[in-house]
Amino acid sequence: PMPVLAIVGRPNVGKSTLVNRILGRREAVVEDIPGVTRDRVSYSASWSGRRFTVVDTGGWEPDAKGLQQAVATQAEQAMRTADAIVLVVDATVGATTTDEAVARVLRRSKTPVILAANKVDSERAEAETAALWSLGLGEPYPVSAAHGRGAGDLLDVILDVL
Ligand code: GDP
Ligand code: MG
Repeated sequence: PMPVLAIVGRPNVGKSTLVNRILGRREAVVEDIPGVTRDRVSYSASWSGRRFTVVDTGGWEPDAKGLQQAVATQAEQAMRTADAIVLVVDATVGATTTDEAVARVLRRSKTPVILAANKVDSERAEAETAALWSLGLGEPYPVSAAHGRGAGDLLDVILDVL
């Protein structure tokens, strides 16, 4: 069976945009309104000649407390079912309490976790990435899912652990 990569994180950080970037096509639904991904959705992807399944997650519009619980549950499910996990954080916002809650769950993951600092659209924005070391998940990898900046490097890191 193909290895499974799960993309987790709170709504609107760019999970679906990153999935599309990985796929090289627009299949995952991207919306300006948080929580538009209805379910976990699996897609076939390949990079550097390796095939894998990428799972986009999301699909809640609860209150702030419910959101933290939902994202933590999503992370736990990814830890059980995936071979590698990418936690996507919006580097322009920084670590929110929801990001910290999900990171707390993922820090005890035996499944490798890669921290993607998304929305780093320019070299200047890269400075915002360093603050995300505080999540305790190791090096934050800057990426712009929307523009493709850093995506190749991120995929190389992902394939190293997948
Ligand atoms: P999701 O809820 O985590 O799946 O997030 P989406 O992929 O639906 O993206 C949410 C919003 O963030 C959309 O308006 C995207 O266009 C925007 N977005 C995603 N990635 C980037 C990025 O790298 N840079 C910028 N500036 N915006 C992004
Ligand atoms: Mg989505």
